[in-house]
Amino acid sequence: MRASLDHVIEQLKRAKRALIVGHVRPDGDAIGSVAALTLILRKLGVAAEGCIPDRVPWFYREIPGTRILRTVEEIRGRKFDTAIVLDSSDLSRIGDAVELLPREEPDVVLDHHVTNTGFGALNFCDPDYAATAMIVHEIGKRLVPYDRELAEVILLGIATDTGFFKYAAVDDRTFAAAAELARHGARIQPIASAVLEHRSPKTIRLLVEMFRTLRIEAGGRLAYAYVSAEMLRRTGCDEEETEGFVGEIRALHGVEVAILFTEWPEGEVHASLRSKSYMDVSRVVRALGGGGHPRAAGCTLKVPRLQDAITRVVEVTRSALLEEVL
Ligand code: AMP
Ligand code: MN
Ligand code: MN
Repeated sequence: MRASLDHVIEQLKRAKRALIVGHVRPDGDAIGSVAALTLILRKLGVAAEGCIPDRVPWFYREIPGTRILRTVEEIRGRKFDTAIVLDSSDLSRIGDAVELLPREEPDVVLDHHVTNTGFGALNFCDPDYAATAMIVHEIGKRLVPYDRELAEVILLGIATDTGFFKYAAVDDRTFAAAAELARHGARIQPIASAVLEHRSPKTIRLLVEMFRTLRIEAGGRLAYAYVSAEMLRRTGCDEEETEGFVGEIRALHGVEVAILFTEWPEGEVHASLRSKSYMDVSRVVRALGGGGHPRAAGCTLKVPRLQDAITRVVEVTRSALLEEVL
């Protein structure tokens, strides 16, 4: 059922033991919005646990509010009466955390993906919000007083999903929310530093390796590169260290669509797509079982060889780009 925010708030107030979950391969919005809603519900006296069903990349821990996040193992066996899923377009996005849900269907889903399937009992999904953390902020400011810890995790979600306030979805509401959060003590500098300036020498070596694989097609409008499992092993990097790499490909002048293929774990290839100004990449990945936003989307393919995934995704993207021009 599609719900209003009032409706969602009523449901949240009824919770006694709440589970808040984000998506696998978490980004700053999944991490920030889950941490924020957990803090908000705890301020209301709810026994709330925030769970990320995958490892949280280490650098997010520099933002104090993210340290309340738990893994599935840490809260397995706990009983919850209410489950809230954030920033996830379908139930498969929460991975193993599905086993923690009290019922098959989450009670509340809050999201901003155009590809959201409406899989909760109550669904609030609005692609006009630049981040799920913006929706959590709308709820939070009606319910509890803010402190720096809470304001900062919300700002983390907004900042990361807007590319630090530079994507097309950024408007006056985004800046107004950021200003409100800054008034409550949130600082953008430690967030930017943690998220954008955490690369180690080995990550840079991996980035160099990635750029060696760069291909440019469609008259310079499509650029793609890959990180293979072997490259990860050779440089001693984890998959999470490729965070931000696809943005480096999009940074090429004239490129409309950038794709990064990551082979991890072996037998699986994740494609991260980014567009610059007109191409709807969420439409491209839909045909491949993925999801996302018009300017940032992804899909995961189970294929024996990395090259199989590259051929398939590039083919679909190339024809979508050509259609766009006609
Ligand atoms: P990424 O490819 O991980 O950089 O993600 C870009 C956007 O697409 C994010 O909003 C993700 O939540 C979404 N996304 C990525 N992979 C998938 C997938 N397999 N299914 C649905 N949504 C996805
Ligand atoms: Mn996300
Ligand atoms: Mn998001």
